Amino acid sequence: MTAPTIERFADIQMLRYDVPGFESLPLRQKLLVYYLAEASLLGRDILWDQNCTYGLRLRKMLEDIYTSYDGSPTDPDWLAFVVYLKRVWFSNGIHHHYSYMKFEPGFSKAFLIGRLQRLGVKDTDELINLIFNPKVMPKRVNQADGEDLLLTSACNYYEEGITQAEAESFYANLKLNADSDRPPMTGLNSRLERYADGTLHENVWRSGGLYGNAIDRISEMLGKARLYAENDKQRAVIDKLVEFYQTGDLKTFDEYAILWVNETESEVDFTNGFTEVYGDPLGLKASWEGYVNIIDHAATRRAKALSDNAQWFENHSPVDERFKKKECRGVSAKVISAAMLGGDLYPSSAIGINLPNSDWIRAEYGSKSVTIANLTRAYNEAAKGSGMRQEFIIDEETRQLIDKYGDVCDDLHTDLHECLGHGSGQLLPGVDADALRSYGSTIEEARADLFGLYYIADQKLIDLGLVPNNEAYKSQYYGYLLNGLLTQLVRIEEGHQIEEAHMRNRALISRWTLKNYPEAVQIVEIDGKHHVRIKDYPLLRKAFGELLAEVQRIKSEGDYEAARQLVEQYGIKTDAELHHEIRERYQRLNLAPYKGFINPKYELLQDDEGNIMDVGIVYNEPYDKQMLRYSQEYSTL
Ligand code: ZN
Repeated sequence: MTAPTIERFADIQMLRYDVPGFESLPLRQKLLVYYLAEASLLGRDILWDQNCTYGLRLRKMLEDIYTSYDGSPTDPDWLAFVVYLKRVWFSNGIHHHYSYMKFEPGFSKAFLIGRLQRLGVKDTDELINLIFNPKVMPKRVNQADGEDLLLTSACNYYEEGITQAEAESFYANLKLNADSDRPPMTGLNSRLERYADGTLHENVWRSGGLYGNAIDRISEMLGKARLYAENDKQRAVIDKLVEFYQTGDLKTFDEYAILWVNETESEVDFTNGFTEVYGDPLGLKASWEGYVNIIDHAATRRAKALSDNAQWFENHSPVDERFKKKECRGVSAKVISAAMLGGDLYPSSAIGINLPNSDWIRAEYGSKSVTIANLTRAYNEAAKGSGMRQEFIIDEETRQLIDKYGDVCDDLHTDLHECLGHGSGQLLPGVDADALRSYGSTIEEARADLFGLYYIADQKLIDLGLVPNNEAYKSQYYGYLLNGLLTQLVRIEEGHQIEEAHMRNRALISRWTLKNYPEAVQIVEIDGKHHVRIKDYPLLRKAFGELLAEVQRIKSEGDYEAARQLVEQYGIKTDAELHHEIRERYQRLNLAPYKGFINPKYELLQDDEGNIMDVGIVYNEPYDKQMLRYSQEYSTL
């Protein structure tokens, strides 16, 4: 194991992850990993441009200053500048990756202008104003109820000046004309722009279109990867993806997604493309991401035990019969090791992924679900001995519970969330998958989390040999509520509200339970500090089941008003006093709330004649060197 902690800055701690098993792969598979990894890195610039129209120009300007700096290494302006740049790198732009708020520069405008003058760079007024004027693009994704979400969001998915109402009516029209049984992911791969005559059109991300150069370079690497594909099915997946990148046709994208979800035999797998829609306030347009993974055989057997029983879990869930899938198929699940992270998965990454996102493809073909074990391990290693448990867990008995069962149950909850939760349930006929609009992501995450919380306490998991006894689940219940009620607040600046969908979901579930089941869970004050006390674990399970039934009803019926009320009432607001206390207790521990990963570096090892002999992997690249190298070697736009 490499040392997990690399460096700290602002609210970030960088970690490294190992890629277990890579060295013992046959050369053919190593080369497959290598070329897919290259393809994962080549989309980086797409994401930077999606996040903000000024992103790439700004990055270049900051990096030029960084690499040419010849002043005092202890100048406070310089030190603050370095932190700022590291944060910008981490967020793939000038807005915080989680809160979406624009960073405040800790250095002076005079310092920046001085450095730019030395470099002889001109035409930077716009960028300087962007950095220093808090009124310019304050937020990347705004979801505040009642505001125009497009005019108030800095993301670059819609041309400046296009209103939310215009975009919504544009896409409502497109959807009217689409196949209603098998609708494509309308709007997924384009920027909405305005012609001179005022009408709107999509500028599609494809070869020859917007981001064409980046897409061509990605396609070229996919072409090399296909030579080492493990089987014909995997080769067909790669070919179809390249075809989609050529045409930008969303029907082709669906064909690709179906091939991809059915390809479950390969040991090396990947995602590459326009995938998640969290960065678009309207939830239509997907940010670019790419990653490569290798199967973790032992842990996969655990997840498979769940997916093999998917229908049992569906049949026994507490939701209304009308909302259950009659036939749960293809919820494949495996545990993997990440081998490369790119785009919107780098450096901050998910630890579980369930794709594709198309509702009808999920219903007809199922979904592929993964838990990324080597990243979770790196997190867990970093968390041990941090002092968090001592400070926030109410008593010794609960601490022991979590020491004993915490890791096992965390993994299991992630498996339940990804392998079963997202794949469960169905929409009633005629319900638009986007009916919940800006509340859709939060409700969907709540649905998957609640499914996991409900079932982690089920005898079935003991029968399957996945948990050792009927006490273990309590560690997950305590940890979940502690996070949702108290500790996740450490990641939000004081005076701000909860924005990110996964965090809103955790707040929603925890606070709903606190409000409606005070006999099960309470917040108590001990010596001036607030703690979570769980009084009745079985009753908690009942509460989670009840809320799961309601959240599934909301999703199945497309009940926008109920979604809005639930999210607005429980998922967003922070209590100023409590928030302050939690942040203060946390700050005394001197830990970083966010973590991200430095990628390993792969190298082709060649003999004198240029034949590839092996693929090396090294783990020693410093954070700043990696970022600068990526800007050099994978600059495409
Ligand atoms: Zn999820």
